[in-house]
Formats: sequence, C-alpha cells, structure tokens
Amino acid sequence: MNSLWENTVNLPMYEELNKNINVDVAIIGGGISGILTAYKLKKQGIKAVIFEKDRICQKTTAYTTGKITLAHSLIYEELISNFGTEKAREYAYLNKKAIEEYENIIKEENIECDFEKCNAYLYTKEDENKLIKEYNALLKCDIDCEYIEESSLPLKFKGAIKYKNQGKFNPFKFIKHILKDLTIYENTFIEEVKAKRKTLFTDSGYKIKANKIIFACSFPFLNVPGYYFLRMHQELSYFLILKNTKKLKDIYLNVDEKGYSFRGYDDILLFGGEKHRSGENKKGEKYQNLREEIKKLYPGFEEIGHYASEDCMTIDKVPYIGLFSKAFKDIYVITGFNKWGMTSSMVAANIISDMILKGFDYKDSIFSPERFDTKGIKKSIIKEGPYSIKGIGKEFLNIPDTTLQALPLGHGGIVEYKGEKVGVYKDEEGNCYIVPSKCPHLNCELSWNPDEKTWDCPCHGSRFDYMGNIIYSPSIYDLECIEKKVKKE
Ligand SMILES: Cc1cc2nc3c(=O)[nH]c(=O)nc-3n(C[C@H](O)[C@H](O)[C@H](O)COP(=O)(O)OP(=O)(O)OC[C@H]3O[C@@H](n4cnc5c(N)ncnc54)[C@H](O)[C@@H]3O)c2cc1C
Repeated sequence: MNSLWENTVNLPMYEELNKNINVDVAIIGGGISGILTAYKLKKQGIKAVIFEKDRICQKTTAYTTGKITLAHSLIYEELISNFGTEKAREYAYLNKKAIEEYENIIKEENIECDFEKCNAYLYTKEDENKLIKEYNALLKCDIDCEYIEESSLPLKFKGAIKYKNQGKFNPFKFIKHILKDLTIYENTFIEEVKAKRKTLFTDSGYKIKANKIIFACSFPFLNVPGYYFLRMHQELSYFLILKNTKKLKDIYLNVDEKGYSFRGYDDILLFGGEKHRSGENKKGEKYQNLREEIKKLYPGFEEIGHYASEDCMTIDKVPYIGLFSKAFKDIYVITGFNKWGMTSSMVAANIISDMILKGFDYKDSIFSPERFDTKGIKKSIIKEGPYSIKGIGKEFLNIPDTTLQALPLGHGGIVEYKGEKVGVYKDEEGNCYIVPSKCPHLNCELSWNPDEKTWDCPCHGSRFDYMGNIIYSPSIYDLECIEKKVKKE
C-alpha cells in the first residue's frame, strides 16, 4: 500500500533514458541518499545525474518514519567499544551536524515540510542497565541528553533517555523541494556496471559513460569487489497508520526486542516494530501483534493503513560511506543505514561531495567501507557467513516445506512440483503461482513471508511478490514465473 508520505505529496515524474549519454557523476538510485547527494553536488557546481529503476522514492524512503535524530537505538556504547571514543564522537558529531543542516536548509530555502524540533526518547520496559550504560556513553560523545523516569507516553517503563534538539518532518515535502533542477531518469534500470571502464548499462541496452559513479541503490548489486553481501543483511519492520490515538509531539523508540516506534504526524500516529531479519517470518501475525500492543494504550484506535519495509543492516551498526572498493578510485558507495537513513543520508551527501570536490579520502573515518579489514568485518564474516550459506545449505538438504495439495488457501510455501523444488503461493480461490525457490542474487533458498505475501531472501534481503516480481534488491532479476496453475472448477 501507499505510505503516509505518498498519500500526502505527489513527486514529479521523469522520463526514462532512451539514448547513450556521457555524464560527470552518475548516481544509481533515486531514494533520499541519491537525491541529497545530487542536491549537495549541484549546490557546489557539479552536475550529477540520477538513474532510478522505478519511480523515485518508492522503496525504503517512502516508508521511513521521518525521524531526524541521532538517537539510533543503543549504539554509542558499542561504537566506543569497537572503534574507540574518538570515532564514536565522530559518528555523533556528523549526525548532529546533519540534524542542524536539515534545519538550516529548511529555514534558508523556506521549505514547508512540517519540520518540527522535538525530543527523542529511547525507553526500556526490561533491563534498565543497558540504558544506563548507553547514557554514560552518550555523555562521552557530548550528546545533549538526560536520563529520565517518565515521559508523555502513557507507558510504564523502567528507564528512558531523552535526547534534546532532535526533529521530524514530512520527507516527501522536503524531497519535492530539493528535487528542483536535478536531472533524473526514472524507469531506468542499471543492470551492469563495468567499474574499470566507468560505464553503466541499462536493461534497455543504453550506455552511460561517467567520470564518477555513486551506488546509492540501497543494497549494491555489484558483488565483487566490495563484498557488501558478506557484511550486510536486511531487516524488515511493520507499521500501522493510526487515528484516534493521542497527538504525540516527541518521538519514541523501545530498545527491547520488538523495537516499538511511535511517531506522531498531525492527528496520525505511525506505530511500528516487530522487526526481524528479512526471510525469517515463518509464523507471521506481525500486524496482529502490533494491533494487540497498541490496543493496550489506545483501545479506540482506528487503523487507516499498514505497511512493511526493510533497510540494510551492517554488522557494526555503522553505514558504509566512501570508496566502493580500494580497487577503483572514482566509484563510491552509500549503504547500510541500519534504519537511520535520514541523518545518515545527509552525512553521506557531505562525505561523498567532499571526496569528489575536495579530494578528501575519509579513509580513516568511522564510515569508511575500508574498515572491512578491521575487527568489525572479522566479526561480520563470523556472524554473516553462516547466514550467507544458510539458504544454500537448506537447499542441499532438499526438504520441501509441504506439498502443493496440502498448502492451505491464501498461503505460500516451498513444495516439490514435477520433481523440482519450487515456491508456491495458493490464492484464496485455489490458483497457484509457481516460482523458483532460489534467489537469483546468490542462489539462496527463499522463505515465504505470510504477512506480506512475499518471497524473502534470508541471506541478503532480496524480496519478490508472489508472482515473482522483484520488490527489493540486491537481486536485479525477477523470479521467472514457472507456471500459474488455475484451479479447475
Ligand atoms: C520501517 C522503516 C522506518 C524507518 N524510519 C526511519 C526514521 O524515522 N528515521 C531515519 O533516519 N531512518 C529511518 N529509516 C531508514 C531510512 O528510511 C532509509 O535508510 C532510507 O530511506 C534509505 O534511503 P536510500 O536512498 O538508501 O534507499 P532507497 O529509498 O531504497 O532508495 C534506493 C533506490 O535505488 C533504486 N535502485 C535499486 N537498484 C537500482 C538499479 N540497479 N538501477 C537503478 N535504480 C536502482 C531503488 O528503486 C530505490 O528507489 C526507516 C527504515 C524503515 C525500513
């Protein structure tokens, strides 16, 4: 379904590329990270061209909660432990600057995007110790915050941290303004990048020669070099759009397992959580769980919509912003926002434009993708490795979930069909949609998500609708429909 932001703002439409072109900077991906980077470069006299495979801002950016904050859940204690205090302070400083920059741009350009300053709260109903440790780390990072015992939410909690001077906005209203004068091609799918030749190829056969290339397409589809698939996965969250609750000025995030998030927009409440690694929702009932949870607070709530969306998660909780790989000096990457892409996109736009315009290398920055060689990536391989082969391993075991006949109406599952293992969705009328059971990205076994009626990859988070159409990368291919078996009357 459409997101809240899509329902409030129509973004302009752009033509698709229909010839070979040469550009100075090519940006792959028309989400907030690609758009902010193009905007920053344009302000400094560099023309960047955005290539978007569908419509701009219809993927993760459409479903953001629009919190502009450095309260990125529990992170600063871990950053200090993994990277040291100086680097953790760099993370905090650049994110704080990002919040201020949003405010400045909005003021200077008079952008009506419902921007409001507010406090951000992280709270726990379980273990207060983890919040107290985080609070101490925040003080070391010069973050303006307070430890508190109550907030305006009618919730019982054990402890909370209040982060001052944070913000929220309508991201589509903001984006609509900064899009002006950018060059964008929509429905232009970059199928291949020849990094050495700095050439991009679209699926319609057109060629783009660029001096610089920026991957801002969420999960990069180029596997080698870079190896981002070894150091990232994707995580899904579910949201309800609600009325008849309470107007909330501030923004809230529960740091316990379910990760409940509250964000008010006028008389609407976005309430979400129930996060899980993509491809790991066999049981389903995520929306139902959210409804039951919110009923405890606002029994008279009215649901006007719901949606799920995913984002790239890095092993050490820090995005990858900088050179795509040491092997190529003019190819850049922006990814791994860990569901904090509003401030992180601004940080990325600043870092990448400094690299392009001023020649800074940011090699020692906490955001540098080159930290691949350090402690973080060793952990990543240990943690992500088994996941990367998990789908493949299951394939070798070759155990289908069920049979075609036994699959209930309205359900999906892996079944054996004509001697092959396939993915099947059986609709309410009994028609079966049969697709391959493996992800075209790296051949991992797909998993059925009953809440979304999608095929999700547990390894790297590619997602497909039940007919096999790709919804989320890194796969660049659909699942080829093997057969639609229509129920005989
Ligand atoms: C439920 C949820 C809530 C969130 N809430 C917040 C929040 O409150 N605050 C916050 O800071 N962050 C939040 N985030 C995170 C934030 O929304 C994302 O990090 C951010 O929107 C990602 O932007 P992006 O530009 O990197 O990716 P996207 O918005 O996914 O854009 C990438 C674009 O690249 C295009 N693309 C992909 N492959 C190709 C190709 N081969 N050729 C051409 N185009 C291609 C896609 O079609 C897409 O449009 C949330 C995330 C989720 C999932």
